[in-house]
Amino acid sequence: MTKQQTMHIGLDDTDSTKGGCTTYLAAVLIEKLLKFNVQFTDYPALIRLNPNVPWKTRGNGALCLRFTYPPELETQIKTTALELWEEHSAIKEKGTDPGIVFYKNNEISHELRTFAKKTITTIATLKEATEIIKKLGAEAAGFNTCRGIIGALASIGETLDADYTYELIAYRIPENLGTKRRVNEASIFEMDKLTFPYTFNNVDSEKNRIIITPRGPDPILFGIRGESAEIVKKAYEIVKPLEPVERFVIFRSNQGTDAHLKPAKSLGILEPYSSVIAKGVVSKNPKLVPLRHVIFSIKDDTAEVDCAAYEPTGDLRKIARELLVGDCVEVYGAVQKPTATKPLTINLEKINILKLMTKKHIENPLCPKCGKRLKSMGKNQGFRCEKCRDKYTDLKKAETNVARAIKQGLYVTSTRSQRHLTKPLRRYGQEKQDATGCRMIGEWHFP
Ligand SMILES: [Zn+2]
Repeated sequence: MTKQQTMHIGLDDTDSTKGGCTTYLAAVLIEKLLKFNVQFTDYPALIRLNPNVPWKTRGNGALCLRFTYPPELETQIKTTALELWEEHSAIKEKGTDPGIVFYKNNEISHELRTFAKKTITTIATLKEATEIIKKLGAEAAGFNTCRGIIGALASIGETLDADYTYELIAYRIPENLGTKRRVNEASIFEMDKLTFPYTFNNVDSEKNRIIITPRGPDPILFGIRGESAEIVKKAYEIVKPLEPVERFVIFRSNQGTDAHLKPAKSLGILEPYSSVIAKGVVSKNPKLVPLRHVIFSIKDDTAEVDCAAYEPTGDLRKIARELLVGDCVEVYGAVQKPTATKPLTINLEKINILKLMTKKHIENPLCPKCGKRLKSMGKNQGFRCEKCRDKYTDLKKAETNVARAIKQGLYVTSTRSQRHLTKPLRRYGQEKQDATGCRMIGEWHFP
C-alpha cells in the first residue's frame, strides 16, 4: 500500500445573498470525499473572518477540510472538489468572489498561521495571499475578484490551537428551500436547558425567542453551538425538526471565542476595519441620538474616539446610557472609519466597566434649628434660613454620594446582535487553551 498523503482544502465566499452557503458545500464535499477512502484528520473547520471588512458576505466564514488520501486518487479528489465548488458558487452574482485552495503538506507554517490571524482581526490583501500560495507551492482558483482565495487560505492557516468551539449544522432538503423553517420550538428551549452551560446562543432570553434557525433562503435548518462535539450531538438529538434533515456536519470553529478582537495599546493607533479591545476614560457623557443609539466618547493620552451602542445591542445600550465622564472602561468592538460628520467610532460589542466615578450630589446645608434647607446668600457669603431668618456664614455645602445605576463588570451585547465571533457570557470560564481535548467522534456527519 502506498503511503497516505495529507491535504487541506480551503473554501470561501461561495454564498450569495440569494442563498447557498459555503458550509453546505463543505458538507456535500465531505460525503463525496469519503468515496475516495480519505481519512479526515480533524473536524471540518468553520473559520469566521474579520466581521468588519467592507466587502463581506453574510457571515464571512471560510471552511477547511483536512484529510489523508491515497496519492493515486489525488487528481480525482481535486477534480471532484473543483466541480462541486463551481456548481455551488454563485459566480454570476456581484459581490460573490469564491475562492478555493489546495495545500498538500503536514506542516502549517508560522507565516501561514500569522496570515490567518490577520484575516480574522483586520484586513489581508489578495496579493499577500497569492505570495504565500506561491511560496508554499499550494494551488488556488477563484472567480470574479478572487477575494475568496484570502479566506480559503486563511481557513487552512487557522488550526484552532487555542480557544475553539463546535457547531453542528443540520441542512434542509432542496424542496424546502425558501419556505419557513419548521422545528419544534419547545424542544429547542428544552435542549438549551438540558445542555446548559455547554451550548450557547440557542435562544435570546431578552426576547424569549429561538435563534438557532436562520432566516433567509440558505439551506441551513439550524445550527447548535457548543463546547464539545459530544454535547452538540446530544443537543441535536433533543431538538425535534418538523421537516426532513438532508444531512448534518459537526464543525470545529473560532465562533464564540472573541478571536476577532485584538487588544490595542492606545486609542491613537486604532485602524478602521479592525476589531479591537481598547481602554479609555469617558470624556463626553452619553447622548441618545435618533433611532435610539447611544454615543459617548472615551480618551487616553493619545486620542479621543466615539463609542456607539446601537438599538439591537439591548442591555448593552442601557448600560452605556448610564456612563459618566471620568468612568474608566474597556470597550470591545469594530472600528468604523471616520466621516466628514463623524469621528472614528467603535461599534460596541462589549463594555468592561473598570472603575465608576462617584456621582456627587451637592446641596445647601440644613438649618441647624428647624431643619429646613438653607438658602445661599451668594458665593462664599454663607447661608440664610427663610423660616428662622438666621444667617450662617460658617456652614458649607453638603456633598452626598448618589448611587450609580450600573456596576463594575463585563456587559455583552444581546444574544440576537452578537456576531458569530463574539464570546457570549455563558462561555466565560470554559475557554480552551489548546486542541488536546479534540477527539473525532464516530458520528460527526450524516450521511
Ligand atoms: Zn431655620
